[in-house]
Amino acid sequence: MGNRTQQYGKVILAGAGPGDPDLITIKAVRYLQQADVVLTDRLVSNEILEQYVNSDAEIIYVGKQCRTGPSTPQATINELLVMHAAEGKLVVRLKGGDVSIFSNILDELQTLAENKIPYEIIPGVTAALGSSAYTGIPLTARGYSTAVRLLTFYKSDVVSPEYWKELAATDDTLVFYMSSETLSGVVENLVKNNIAPHKLLAVVEQATTPLQNVYTCSLYEYELAFRDRSFLSPSLIIIGKVVGLHEQFRWLENSGGRENYFTTLKNRVNVNQNLVA
Ligand code: SAH
Repeated sequence: MGNRTQQYGKVILAGAGPGDPDLITIKAVRYLQQADVVLTDRLVSNEILEQYVNSDAEIIYVGKQCRTGPSTPQATINELLVMHAAEGKLVVRLKGGDVSIFSNILDELQTLAENKIPYEIIPGVTAALGSSAYTGIPLTARGYSTAVRLLTFYKSDVVSPEYWKELAATDDTLVFYMSSETLSGVVENLVKNNIAPHKLLAVVEQATTPLQNVYTCSLYEYELAFRDRSFLSPSLIIIGKVVGLHEQFRWLENSGGRENYFTTLKNRVNVNQNLVA
């Protein structure tokens, strides 16, 4: 951008919530109604894009998927943010859940700062909180747990052997993001470190969507109950004594559905294919 006297637009980094389109904030909706460009993640419901984004806005799908499916490199996303803001546009960067939890917001913030692009950050309901509400599992229920840890085990070196020991011993509620494919590793490490048998495990598939399913079991029965099961993406893992409250306070039945809630609209283009990183 050098020394051009450019009038920059603005970038709004906004959380869209975990799925249920009604869980987005009014502030984010107001910006979607004014946006020129919306860069959206895979974990943003089509309903949000269809209902709230003004019809003149350009919607660019920059979805990322851990192992499967097409993925947009972070460099491309950064490039798109700068390119559109440099044209003086109002750009909304919409992310699933909350923007600060297991998202690449830091890369994007650094890019915006380096390019002196003004920005705002709007929070969203993160998957842990959406799951807690829609399963009736209060994460820090009095007498059960006094803290909650947001974790991930998407690859084996993110949790050290010493930390597994601590995670098995603590009474804090454990919430694992991006870990349904490595769930047997999570269970194995906690069982190996003698996690108490009264702490249960819940897998919440497609939380807060009409396709939500919740599966619970004791960590010591996991092998038997779920060994051959693969969970739909996205799924969240909750572990702790609080999971036992689900039985009593669940207010939503399992959908029983096996379809994917988060799908790509046919007319959305994945920029991975037509933009140089
Ligand atoms: N920023 C997001 C998290 C992105 S990481 C947030 O705050 O929620 C992606 C992971 O989030 C998924 O692998 C899954 O573990 C979890 N996740 C996101 N939405 C979910 C949903 N509706 N149901 C279950 N898990 C979800």
